[in-house]
Amino acid sequence: MTEALDINVIKAERSKLNDLNLENIPFGKYFSDHMLEADYENGEWKNVEIKPYQPLLLEPSLSALHYGQAIFEGIKAYRSDNREAFIFRPYDNFRRFNISAERMNMPEVPEEIFIEGMRQLIELDKNWIPARKDHSLYIRPVMFATDTMLGVKPSDSYKFLILLSPTGPYYAAPMKIAVEEKYTRAAPGGVGFSKNAGNYGGSMRAATEAKKQGYDQVLWTDAFEHKWLQEVGMMNVFFIINGLVVTPSLEEGTILAGVTRDSAITLLKEMGYTVDERKISIDELTEAYRKGHLQEVFGTGTAATIAMIQELKYRDEIMHFDTSKFKVAIELREKMNNIKEGRIEDKYGWLYKI
Ligand SMILES: *Cc1c(COP(=O)(O)O)cnc(C)c1O
Repeated sequence: MTEALDINVIKAERSKLNDLNLENIPFGKYFSDHMLEADYENGEWKNVEIKPYQPLLLEPSLSALHYGQAIFEGIKAYRSDNREAFIFRPYDNFRRFNISAERMNMPEVPEEIFIEGMRQLIELDKNWIPARKDHSLYIRPVMFATDTMLGVKPSDSYKFLILLSPTGPYYAAPMKIAVEEKYTRAAPGGVGFSKNAGNYGGSMRAATEAKKQGYDQVLWTDAFEHKWLQEVGMMNVFFIINGLVVTPSLEEGTILAGVTRDSAITLLKEMGYTVDERKISIDELTEAYRKGHLQEVFGTGTAATIAMIQELKYRDEIMHFDTSKFKVAIELREKMNNIKEGRIEDKYGWLYKI
């Protein structure tokens, strides 16, 4: 162990927990008593501080607002049945955060700030992890450019924050998804594999138009042919075709490498399924559906874990799925939740004890 990072801690005078019931609390709406803040200036990270959650004072010329150097992560902490607290796979999010940082020409955040800072913050706000089934504490690290001049160039200064938001069960009703053929989320050479703020801004128009047609989200397709399937909103996508698991491969850099996706692949293999990471086209999917071979479609992501898809629309064709008959998705979700909440052995070292 290296020497503990020197983090200045300013404690809140009273906890907001007294005024809040964590049961069934909605996602992302309430924040814990404290946050972590650090600044990057003159080539180094400084002012690492845990302090009461509060507004920031920012200049209108803030570079992130004008030119979009901003990245984030989404992680969850759980409290197991014997009341120990764990973070799920934080090192994977730490690595991905710095991959996003590199792509967006931003400085890397060191492990002592990202992981150790997160640990100390959660330790302080431990009571904010709801000790209830399917509840968790959502962790939101975010970094953005803080230079205050309008020249277009990589910022020299940045702010890093970690926010904590308690969250209840994400009762994801089975989703209706429209295959997107007009808009594009990501192209090779672009920023699709990074969790940068602009990817989400750029996708909202498509989601809004899908909602007008009665769909919850879009299934993105490739930029050139609008044929090769990518992912759904903030989730990776899985298909069960004739008993085999198929999920789009990552190699073109147009898909966000989900930690839940990786966990799902690992567990599905352990459960005895063959998992094919490869290119898959909408034509292959519709053909499998017509032949009765497309059995399940679901999304994976930290917020919802596993979200089942009951309807997929492609042009005039509507594919229906009876999600109550899904086997793979349900078994996978159960297994994942049991690991996260400490009810079965953590074989892969995914739980980081606080
Ligand atoms: C965050 C995200 C995911 C899911 O990643 P997890 O690590 O599983 O939460 C998938 N797609 C996009 C576009 C995302 O932003």
